[in-house]
Amino acid sequence: EPELSGDFAKVMEWADKHRRMRVRANAETPLDAKTARGFGAEGIGLCRTEHMFFDADRINVVREMILAESEQGRRVALDKLLPFQRSDFEQLFEEMKGLPITIRLLDPPLHEFLPHGEAEIADVAKALGREVKDVKERLSSLHEQNPMLGHRGCRLAVSYPEIAEMQARAIFEAGLASAEGAADPVQPEIMVPLVSTKKELDLVKAVIDQTAAKVFAEKGSKLNYTVGTMIELPRAALTADKIAHTAEFFSFGTNDLTQTTFGLSRDDAGSFLPAYLRQNILDQDPFVSLDQEGVGQLVAIGAEKGRSVRSLIKLGICGEHGGDPASISFCEGVGLDYVSCSPYRVPIARLAAAQASLVLRQQNEASS
Ligand code: PEP
Ligand code: MG
Repeated sequence: EPELSGDFAKVMEWADKHRRMRVRANAETPLDAKTARGFGAEGIGLCRTEHMFFDADRINVVREMILAESEQGRRVALDKLLPFQRSDFEQLFEEMKGLPITIRLLDPPLHEFLPHGEAEIADVAKALGREVKDVKERLSSLHEQNPMLGHRGCRLAVSYPEIAEMQARAIFEAGLASAEGAADPVQPEIMVPLVSTKKELDLVKAVIDQTAAKVFAEKGSKLNYTVGTMIELPRAALTADKIAHTAEFFSFGTNDLTQTTFGLSRDDAGSFLPAYLRQNILDQDPFVSLDQEGVGQLVAIGAEKGRSVRSLIKLGICGEHGGDPASISFCEGVGLDYVSCSPYRVPIARLAAAQASLVLRQQNEASS
């Protein structure tokens, strides 16, 4: 795994003396976490738990869960997923040695896990012991025209609380197991995606808190944890004061926030965007460098509204912009506590955060 050494490590140390913002990484595998730590990440700012569900040994259980027709059917599959998920989190806690880890509940539209095409559907039906016709019916009942604006994010946990319950149980059981005999306590931060109303967050937080109480009673010991939310929809940014009554932290998801502010699909950005950039209709690709005028304004509003209710609310960014120097400089101006980026961007983010701190200090000195 990469480690910084020699002159490079020295420059990084200098940068660290000057930066105010913390730098975390987006990581979900133990290897990513190790790489991130080698580059100096001070925590995981985004663990996208959906990536953990694609391994060959569990994808069919995930499909069994999604294709089930009842809560009971889903619970049978979720019970089988629990040990996998618990072991995922144990490995991450172990690798991060007491550094904070933000674990995000299941986010993507469910079709991403489902079979497409006749042959694959037939294989899955066979593996699950179900009729092809039944599977097709269930698949068509799940079909959506705009899945990225549909049944995803916290909406999954609202419809199927048992999924959030399994994930929360895995986090708490893993956290308690890892805390045993460890020098540093584990610090899970449980993050709810795609929230647009306080009520959604309240519902999911209640499932998390009830699960915590159950697990702590069963195991006879407790763990500190926090529950927060992504701010990745314009409505969440604009009502962040209400949401902050429940959320203990915010992480700005600027990928979805860019998509929904521009009404521009993040998955089809190759279609006309290059021509727009050549014609200077947009100065820059807003998925790469934060659109400060529009999306940035929503980040600033969200931060201010969050702080107006919870003065010390922890604020971070975990969209791709968290590893882009110009966007990092913007985050310093808004006063975010940390940026989170891909592991290989951590050194750049450390430098950019230091530069942003120095520039801001100079500007403040010049104006005072
Ligand atoms: C985001 O939307 O900015 C984000 C970090 O989440 P994801 O990219 O997983 O949607
Ligand atoms: Mg998102």
